[in-house]
Amino acid sequence: MPHRVFHKSNPAADITKLPKLGMDKKHFIADFKHYYSHRLGRDQNCRSPHYAYEALSLAISDRLVERWKKTYNVYRDSDCKKAFYLSMEFLMGRSLSNAMLNLGIDDIVTQALYDLGLEAEELIESEPDAGLGNGGLGRLAACFIDSCATLQLPVTGYGLRYEYGMFSQQIVNGEQVERPDHWLRMGNVWEIERPEYMHRIKFGGHTQTHIDEKGNKRTSWLDTHDVIAMPYDTPVPGYKNGTVNTLRLWKAIATEEFNLQEFNAGDYAEAVAEKNTAENITMVLYPNDANENGKALRLQQQYLLASASLQDVIANWVGRHGNNFSKFAEKNCFQLNDTHPSIAVAELMRLLMDIHGLSWKEAWNITRQTMAYTNHTLLPEALEKWSVNLMQNLLPRLMEIIFDINAHFMAEVSAHWPGDNPRMARMSIIEKGHQKQVRMAFLAIVGSFSVNGVAELHSKLLQEGLFRDFYELWPQKFNNKTNGVTPRRWLAGCNPELAEFITATIGDGWLTDLSQLSKLAPYSEDAAFRQKWYDLNRASKQRLVDYKKEEHDIEINVDALFDVQVKRIHEYKRQILNVLHVIHLYDRIKRGDTQNWVDRCVLIGGKAAPGYVMAKKIIKLINNVGNVINADPDVGEKLRLVFMPNYCVSAMEKICPGADLSEQISTAGKEASGTGNMKFMMNGALTIGTLDGANIEIREEVGADNFFLFGLTETEVEALRPHYDPNWFINQDSDLQGVMRLLECGHFNQFEPGIFDDIIASIKSPHDPWMTIADFRSYLEAQKRVEQTWRDQDRWTKMSILNTAASGKFSTDRTISEYNNEIWKLSPVDVEKY
Ligand SMILES: *Cc1c(COP(=O)(O)O)cnc(C)c1O
Repeated sequence: MPHRVFHKSNPAADITKLPKLGMDKKHFIADFKHYYSHRLGRDQNCRSPHYAYEALSLAISDRLVERWKKTYNVYRDSDCKKAFYLSMEFLMGRSLSNAMLNLGIDDIVTQALYDLGLEAEELIESEPDAGLGNGGLGRLAACFIDSCATLQLPVTGYGLRYEYGMFSQQIVNGEQVERPDHWLRMGNVWEIERPEYMHRIKFGGHTQTHIDEKGNKRTSWLDTHDVIAMPYDTPVPGYKNGTVNTLRLWKAIATEEFNLQEFNAGDYAEAVAEKNTAENITMVLYPNDANENGKALRLQQQYLLASASLQDVIANWVGRHGNNFSKFAEKNCFQLNDTHPSIAVAELMRLLMDIHGLSWKEAWNITRQTMAYTNHTLLPEALEKWSVNLMQNLLPRLMEIIFDINAHFMAEVSAHWPGDNPRMARMSIIEKGHQKQVRMAFLAIVGSFSVNGVAELHSKLLQEGLFRDFYELWPQKFNNKTNGVTPRRWLAGCNPELAEFITATIGDGWLTDLSQLSKLAPYSEDAAFRQKWYDLNRASKQRLVDYKKEEHDIEINVDALFDVQVKRIHEYKRQILNVLHVIHLYDRIKRGDTQNWVDRCVLIGGKAAPGYVMAKKIIKLINNVGNVINADPDVGEKLRLVFMPNYCVSAMEKICPGADLSEQISTAGKEASGTGNMKFMMNGALTIGTLDGANIEIREEVGADNFFLFGLTETEVEALRPHYDPNWFINQDSDLQGVMRLLECGHFNQFEPGIFDDIIASIKSPHDPWMTIADFRSYLEAQKRVEQTWRDQDRWTKMSILNTAASGKFSTDRTISEYNNEIWKLSPVDVEKY
């Protein structure tokens, strides 16, 4: 029998040592061919652009991995302080074009593809979106990690690797139909599985206390049903700076010893099938935006994220420092993206006490110095509460710890306000009632050293309203961090022609210092510059027209005013107000009142949560009104209402460069910040909006003359609310009467009687929380100012330039600098210097 000969190994060998990968055309072509032909095994007869996309992505991914390892090593060797962004959602969108942009290789790669007879655009378009988020909150997380890498900050994103992301939306007979988004079906070339860093997550079972050898009380969590959290890492490249940070997403998998009893009892198939219960945990993203979800599976998701991420950070710490946690808080910081991961407060306590032997006091000091919480909404229906019963069953040890945290906290409150029992009841983490509940926002506040809102108004309302008691107790914890968007994806990436023109005018410093866009303002007085700006905008509109024609067979007139509202469908965002205005314009056309007419194309897009009946009705209303208007020969080019199906990140990248008017029309006080508003502004759209969220700051930056303001203020909304009478407004306003008549007589639902009755009833109700009717007149007047401005195209262009020029504040580079200076306090690490 032949046997292997063992040689002595070479002690100087390094299996990771490789020559640096070439960044020129020749190397990209060679690597592309290698991957296409050898790794993917395709030849020139393969018609699908998908494999060319994969081959190119693998070649680019190699360059990222090279920088990624270096970044990792530099962070490790410098022993720097790190921050961890915990979020249930990362709405990343596509990676290929962003990687090309941030590596500074888009021209080289485009040329290489050209030589290969391929078109970059076609490859880029064949990448599916990573849609692991609902909307603004998830997209914010994605923009944040881009800015962290660009600012050279050692920040890791932690999230969940859902097998199914945000559903894809189809419209059938005017109604939303959800299709599962199996985004991993064709594989994912951007991720690397890392079994060496998996962690065990416990569920169920019970707790037991005992006295250890040192005489301390210790608690164990026993007889649990465990699940494994498997990490998948995605590289997050900074903009042309050699930094590549990490997004680590957890997938739930079954443990090796799953269901031993059934297994031994001979139920082999049943036991294997049981694997599914474990793997179901990260199967699907809950498709609810700004809405709580009381399902046990959702709590399992939240705990898996919190526990796996904390175990990961602690394992790293223990690897270097052993069980000495004295400097842990100096070196680590956790930012909680809303309350979704806030069970982390209790989990960090558990890990430090039960696993690493710290005392309650030591563990609590560390927790309170490392956790920071961002609130994203004031809507009561979005405030997470978990029933104590459910938590006791699923996470018994965590529930005990939460009770203990609350007991300590109640003692603190009582010392501060002796005898103020109503206040103690108001502030308690445990809400009493026939079903006791854990108030997750309160747990997050009590366990954190920083609590922030996401725009000035929102942060102020948190302090005065929802979190008032906490603000009185700990004013120094509260702060504001106005949201932003990354200018790489949302200007340079999605609008390359405009970006090139901006760079030709003011240089390329704006890409990493967006405040430099203010240098554009003087050019608004330059007629030649304005002409070029107008031409570029028209070209963007044409691209949007072509895209709509290609994807959805929708015809629109490029010279019309493109009036765009894309965002999740929600009553507080008031898509209905937009529709009321469209119906009014239609009413005017039918009455022959078309003097000084401005042709307008109203584009509305967005997904409704599958269980949100009213939001789905709103989609149906938009489609029905659109069908009537678009088919009416009297209307012609004057007016168009189009619902754009399946709004997502890659759709927004095509939509925001082509918009003229950005609709930001939520009831004042309800939209925490908004970020769609910022993407539109950056690309030169003008905003029509209420004094809500970041609209207020947008208007401050661009000046009142360059913003179409309307509607009640937050204070006026709350003052009117107790005696709100929609009928009074209707009786005052013949235009509104015309609109209501068309709606109520069934003009838009001739063969579907009654289907819009609940929409009509909701806006006519004195209890309508969104007070749509109250703002109708003011909205209509603002729309008239829009038309007046549009008729003077030169003035419009001037205002468009001024909007882009004033958008510098809304870069996430600014937002993240504030998080870092005021909360995380990390030192930037220049990876290229090492
Ligand atoms: C930016 C963005 C959002 C947030 O839009 P808002 O208007 O702020 O609600 C939601 N979804 C997608 C796909 C986005 O790109």
